[in-house]
Amino acid sequence: MRIQDDIKLDFDDVLIKPKRSTLVSRKKANLERTFKFKHSHHRWTGIPIIASNMDHTGTIAMAHVLMEFPMLTALCKFVESTEWGWNNNIIRTIGLDQNLDELTDDSMWICLDVANGYTERFNDYVALMRRHAATKDRIIIAGNVCTPEATEQILLAGADIVKIGIGPGSVCTTRKMTGVGYPQLSATMECGDAAHGLGGHIITDGGCTVVGDIAKSFGGGADFVMLGGMLAGHKECEGEIEDDKMIFYGMSSTEAQIKHHGGKKSHRASEGKAVMIDYRGNVADTVQEILGGLRSSCTYAGAKSIKDLPKCTTFVKVNRQLNTVFN
Ligand code: 5GP
Repeated sequence: MRIQDDIKLDFDDVLIKPKRSTLVSRKKANLERTFKFKHSHHRWTGIPIIASNMDHTGTIAMAHVLMEFPMLTALCKFVESTEWGWNNNIIRTIGLDQNLDELTDDSMWICLDVANGYTERFNDYVALMRRHAATKDRIIIAGNVCTPEATEQILLAGADIVKIGIGPGSVCTTRKMTGVGYPQLSATMECGDAAHGLGGHIITDGGCTVVGDIAKSFGGGADFVMLGGMLAGHKECEGEIEDDKMIFYGMSSTEAQIKHHGGKKSHRASEGKAVMIDYRGNVADTVQEILGGLRSSCTYAGAKSIKDLPKCTTFVKVNRQLNTVFN
């Protein structure tokens, strides 16, 4: 047993220090980025925020709205494949049980999503995807992990982008059920640094509860930010509305296991929970709020664009939880 005693940070542990800005108006802050990916060599330009591939947020209706901004949607892997093939802001999600020969759609992006990206089987599968005719030329996202060594390994196996986050999700109970996890801002900073050194990219996935957390993710070196809870509860989530509330559940919650696998397997614990959240109407209104907040973050930090945020960001550690400060 070993204790690593340098302190790791979550979003609530820091604030971004304000700095002199040359921007004349926050409208001028550029939220778009252009990336060229390590293995596929594809280029993509857009606002690098992604709706999570959960039942509730990874819907076709969500993708239709977000592509207008233009932002990305990782469709839930249970969305019917016949509904595919209409633009390059679709990310298709697969699991380790996917037969790659059956991937005949033309989506440019593919996301191999597993709860634990530390297995040899997962790493071998990423390498297989980079060799396989159906996937070798696509932008491959793979995750989740939360440490720089694993990030490097997955990039070297063939992924263009590594998804970072073990345990921070709003409806995730992994930290409670298993004791495993890593504070998400430190994971972002450490994995981003490792990925960028190899010409790869990262997605920070999970734990953003307010716009400031998204700004801190970009400031900490995230290339993309994936959102579940912040985009939940909208019309586009296609859930039932009861008493002005919608159910939002984790993808390994008992609810999801019953819906997609006919019940909870006896050897598995549930590592997700279900919560009732307020219905919030059109997601476009929430997205406008998010983008407005991010423009303001850039202006305060003295950054002309979110691309410049990491070099303009100085984090100051705070000595009490922001929740306490806000309430
Ligand atoms: P949020 O933005 O809601 O904080 O986090 C969304 C992320 O939580 C998802 O993209 C996914 O990585 C993770 N997640 C979703 N459902 C579950 C679950 O049931 N268990 C765990 N451990 N993580 C989940």
